[in-house]
Amino acid sequence: MSTFRVTFAGGAQMPTGSNFLIEFGGKKVLIDCGLVQGEKWSVPINREPFTYDPASIDYLFITHAHLDHVGRIPRLVRDGFKGVIVSTEPTRDMAELIMLDSMGLLGKEASQQGLEPLYEERDVFQAMHLWNTILTYQEPYIVTTDQGEAVITFYDAGHILGSAIIEIAYKGKKIAFTGDLGNTPSPLMRDTVTPSNLDYIVMESVYGDRNHKDKDKRIEIVKEVITSTITKGGTVLIPAFSIERTQEMLLAFNELVESKQIPEIPVYLDSPLGINITKIYKKHEKWLNNDVGNAIKSGDDVFAFKGLVQTLTPDESKAINNDTRPKVIIAGSGMSNGGRILHHEARYLSDPRSAIVIVGYQSVGTLGRKIVDEPKDVIIHGQVVPLRARVVNIHGFSAHKDSDHLVSFLEPTATTLKKVFVVLGEPKSAYYLGQRIHETYGLPIAVPEKGDVVELE
Ligand SMILES: [Zn+2]
Repeated sequence: MSTFRVTFAGGAQMPTGSNFLIEFGGKKVLIDCGLVQGEKWSVPINREPFTYDPASIDYLFITHAHLDHVGRIPRLVRDGFKGVIVSTEPTRDMAELIMLDSMGLLGKEASQQGLEPLYEERDVFQAMHLWNTILTYQEPYIVTTDQGEAVITFYDAGHILGSAIIEIAYKGKKIAFTGDLGNTPSPLMRDTVTPSNLDYIVMESVYGDRNHKDKDKRIEIVKEVITSTITKGGTVLIPAFSIERTQEMLLAFNELVESKQIPEIPVYLDSPLGINITKIYKKHEKWLNNDVGNAIKSGDDVFAFKGLVQTLTPDESKAINNDTRPKVIIAGSGMSNGGRILHHEARYLSDPRSAIVIVGYQSVGTLGRKIVDEPKDVIIHGQVVPLRARVVNIHGFSAHKDSDHLVSFLEPTATTLKKVFVVLGEPKSAYYLGQRIHETYGLPIAVPEKGDVVELE
């Protein structure tokens, strides 16, 4: 009899759509229920029925609040899920905002295609009713099964606020799901913690085939882009994910402005979601690293500085158009596949004095991914926009571990591991990382496909 039975329901050979089913002692438990993202906010695969019966699931454990890990939760509830959802406190708070925000974009896409919405507001609220939180990392959460207790433990993944590696210990065996793993050391997060004595691990591989060579120089690069763009009288666009990247950019600008390394220019945070998520970062300061957490606790707003303008309403957003001064605009979405950034890209990408700084992972098919390749022109809202602005791609701001650090992450538990399952990456990335782990530790590796089922002893 196997101890665990794992079904790779999503996030297999792709970086988004995280969704794993694990069965033990008669319980059915999901890890994450994320949206698959691509050219559009939602790709058709998100409308396919779940490959398991949502009503039969007992628990849903969430690694972190990114859309590709939580975006299909309201759909799961709509389709009959009545179990318990468990995450850290910040994950719950941010997931609620993310699911509500995404609902607007999803609804717009669905109505354009004459489809029913993927979910509605009441599904989000129903999900929130089912939600339990753990108050600190490594606080055990007990699941009682027909054949004894399973202990679920959340370890700090160091990826975004409240992000966790989820470990399940049952009948003397341990398996962990990494979710996404942080780019430690991070200016905001604590370092990633590797659980010990694992038998199995299901690990991410977003940057499995690449290293962040420019991490040490990332602030220098931002400084150079800003000063040279100001000199030309241009605008710097920064498409940024609302969680983590936005706060990391604000922290960087806070330091650059307050130490007078860049002049005081208007820096627009044109993202209602980014503004609200920043409030949650301040509220849950104890989940941040000690430097930033203590600064916030003592009343220092590390995410604010002279020149910062936060634009909540559409009218405030439109008014940015009237500001002809050199400036910075930070807006979502982070992959330019929706959101306010598109309006600014339509206006400034054709301006040779301006610049766009890419600071995050760009999924295949998204406008952001296209811009990275610097084509002659791009299409925004159906219009051809010549690409004349400078394109600067900085990998070092990534919230993900690079290839070297993904390999070394396993080191503390490499001697007990029996098998490593590589997921949450494009196939090239996943296979490359698997090969490296195999060569480094001599461990058996699998790169599962969507729908694969494994029985683990
Ligand atoms: Zn993530």
